[in-house]
Amino acid sequence: MEKIKMTTPLVEMDGDEMTRILWKMIKEELLEPYIDLKTEYYDLGLEHRNETNDQVTVDSALATKKYKVAVKCATITPNAARMDEYDLKEMWKSPNGTIRAILDGTVFRAPIVVKGIEPCVKNWKKPITIARHAYGDVYKGSEMKIPGAGKVELVYTAEDGTQTKELVHEFDGPGIVQGMHNLNKSIESFARSCFSYALDTKQDLWFATKDTISKKYDHTFKDIFQEIYDAEYDEKFREAGIEYFYTLIDDAVARVMKSEGGYIWACKNYDGDVMSDMVSSAFGSLAMMTSVLVSPEGYYEYEAAHGTVQRHYYKHLKGEETSTNSVATIFAWTGALRKRGELDGNKDLMEFADRLEKATIDTIEAGEMTKDLALITTIENPTVLNSEGFIKAIAKRL
Ligand code: NAP
Ligand code: MG
Repeated sequence: MEKIKMTTPLVEMDGDEMTRILWKMIKEELLEPYIDLKTEYYDLGLEHRNETNDQVTVDSALATKKYKVAVKCATITPNAARMDEYDLKEMWKSPNGTIRAILDGTVFRAPIVVKGIEPCVKNWKKPITIARHAYGDVYKGSEMKIPGAGKVELVYTAEDGTQTKELVHEFDGPGIVQGMHNLNKSIESFARSCFSYALDTKQDLWFATKDTISKKYDHTFKDIFQEIYDAEYDEKFREAGIEYFYTLIDDAVARVMKSEGGYIWACKNYDGDVMSDMVSSAFGSLAMMTSVLVSPEGYYEYEAAHGTVQRHYYKHLKGEETSTNSVATIFAWTGALRKRGELDGNKDLMEFADRLEKATIDTIEAGEMTKDLALITTIENPTVLNSEGFIKAIAKRL
């Protein structure tokens, strides 16, 4: 069989621990036999990040701006324990944070729905996609512990030196305070990414904040969404037969629970962080979730939503058998290959991505799965496969 040719490389960001092991198996068993794989390789494994003073992470993000599509393996975000374990020069920042800061944009996370893995919420029939704003708020906040009585104010000093002040609180004893920000530009690109993604996937878009309490901060998000919708998307949404609406976050949560799914739920940064874990676990598993960062300039970075599965990696190192679910990592590759195909007009590549996804889903629906799924499936007597066995079972169907 002749292999599928690629015209433009994908940016390949390799990672750490168990997912690095899966990464290699996926390439060898599921991709390289069928595709003349063209990638520009960046090793984001912690050792190499440390060797390059994290320059490799920055370089990989810049390469994503050049080639437009990247696929990323899960990576370690160093903490104190990792400093010793890897003998690090510095506690390097989260690669995802660095990449998001360079690319800007919105992270879309959607569950991979298969028969036999039923959502905990029984009326959910279709996937719910969370669109998480990837910039600002508490993630770029500054905080202080207030030791005792005193006044805390917000002070804005304009370029000409004029100051505007707002009292936060008159403390009569110890307490805490937090300042955070966002940028109209970033909120505008968040809004546009959500509207375009809704049109791309022909799904309704919901957006919710707490604007009744946060009358300036959250209200600005609400207003920017509405202005952009009215000016640029209203007609396109009507033509596509989809809807945009804004509601309060409490109301959104209540509606989500009663819905049957099949829409995009746009969330501010923190809400998206928390709600995506709720939605993914209610749909079954973090390992059954796709995740893509879409930048306002049209750059795409595909990844798995879970981490490096450290506990399984240590078992693997001891020579013990592991049963780690590779579905999210496989779907990161198929997402990237399909997008590459779309941008390059490469139909074979797009079809290959569809086939690999189908082979993966068919394998699980036929009762062959990893342990995490076997524990929650409604399929009777599932066959529990090890990490490699599961990938080989997919390869056989493919
Ligand atoms: P994790 O890697 O997501 O794993 C937490 C637990 O969830 C695992 O121990 C395992 O449970 C289960 N799990 C997650 N993915 C699984 C899979 N594919 N198949 C089967 N089970 C799976 O989170 P963590 O252990 O908190 O973090 C490990 C490292 O990942 C950390 O260094 C963190 O910085 C990094 N991280 C990276 C990213 C990213 O790059 N996007 C995201 C999150 C975390 P059992 O042990 O019960 O089987
Ligand atoms: Mg989270």
